[in-house]
Amino acid sequence: MAKVLVVAEQRDGRLKKTTFELLGASAAAGNETHLVLIGDGVQGLATECGHYGAHTVHVANDPALKFYTAEAYAQVVVPLAKSLAPDVILAAHSPTGRDLMPKVASRLGVGLASDCVQASFEGGKLKVRRPLYAGKATAEVEFVGPGPQVATIRANALGVPKADPGKSAKVSSVSVSLSGIKTSVSEVQQGQAGRPDVTEASIVISGGRSLKTADNFKMLEDTADVIGAAVGASRAAVDAGYRPHRDQVGQTGKVVSPNLYIACGISGAIQHLAGMRSSKVIVAINTDPEAPIFQVADYGVVGDIFTVVPALKEELKKLKEH
Ligand SMILES: Cc1cc2nc3c(=O)[nH]c(=O)nc-3n(C[C@H](O)[C@H](O)[C@H](O)COP(=O)(O)OP(=O)(O)OC[C@H]3O[C@@H](n4cnc5c(N)ncnc54)[C@H](O)[C@@H]3O)c2cc1C
Repeated sequence: MAKVLVVAEQRDGRLKKTTFELLGASAAAGNETHLVLIGDGVQGLATECGHYGAHTVHVANDPALKFYTAEAYAQVVVPLAKSLAPDVILAAHSPTGRDLMPKVASRLGVGLASDCVQASFEGGKLKVRRPLYAGKATAEVEFVGPGPQVATIRANALGVPKADPGKSAKVSSVSVSLSGIKTSVSEVQQGQAGRPDVTEASIVISGGRSLKTADNFKMLEDTADVIGAAVGASRAAVDAGYRPHRDQVGQTGKVVSPNLYIACGISGAIQHLAGMRSSKVIVAINTDPEAPIFQVADYGVVGDIFTVVPALKEELKKLKEH
């Protein structure tokens, strides 16, 4: 049994699904599972964390922690990790986790296994797998030296466990000292997303340069609405101004691992594959039977997206109705 500290992620008072994945995986392995919850007015979220397997929730609640900064959040996680002495620290491989955890690991003087796509516990030790060469291979990572073992795990890699309202966590308050902090965020202006983020969604439907205009993405949005999917894009589509950068999937965009990824008119360049090849099921629609995307696709349709996608939407609608 290991002592595990999960770094929770929440936005606007709602916990991210990845937090439940990490809690569930740790608790299922029989670990002593701690969670650190950081923000302003976040105490109420501790109950839900208990339902997903946290034994103890450490709440760092302070108006100065309302908006995330690596500097301030590290100043909470590092002292807590030093006093708690966990064997393992886990966080999501989200933009926040990617930013925060290298700082935490370096301040603790330990290594970091980032972007892991598998994680398990053996004899109280964490075992992870992470992709190499843009996902062409995966490496098993062994932690050496004194702990804690620090890892960030890709969303959807572990699966969300079923909540058990019968379970509850002990809640402990963390005293926050933010002296010496040099930066703070005074305001966050939300983009107009209105649909799930590509890193969180269990289905992502993405479009490429072949969509030709921003308006044509409406076809993907309509299909996404039928199945509750997020809409992603290749870099070519983003560079052409069809979609905002937050939707870009790939090496210089977001890394996604949904249960279903539908690539519409995307060639499958290595940089795009780096962001989506760990998806559980990949469907590709492309007019070119030789397009590299078909090499990673589980199901392929050689055809024109402007014919196939509307037909797909109608079939999905029928399935939903039944
Ligand atoms: C350093 C670096 C980082 C990069 N990072 C990223 C990244 O993060 N994400 C990313 O996506 N790319 C990234 N790229 C760019 C990448 O190399 C490709 O240029 C890009 O992914 C191509 O996008 P695309 O597939 O939409 O366009 P294209 O390569 O132009 O492919 C369009 C595809 O659509 C098909 N097609 C055309 N018309 C239709 C139709 N009517 N119906 C069906 N299919 C059709 C074509 O057969 C073709 O396969 C990066 C490149 C570099 C150098």
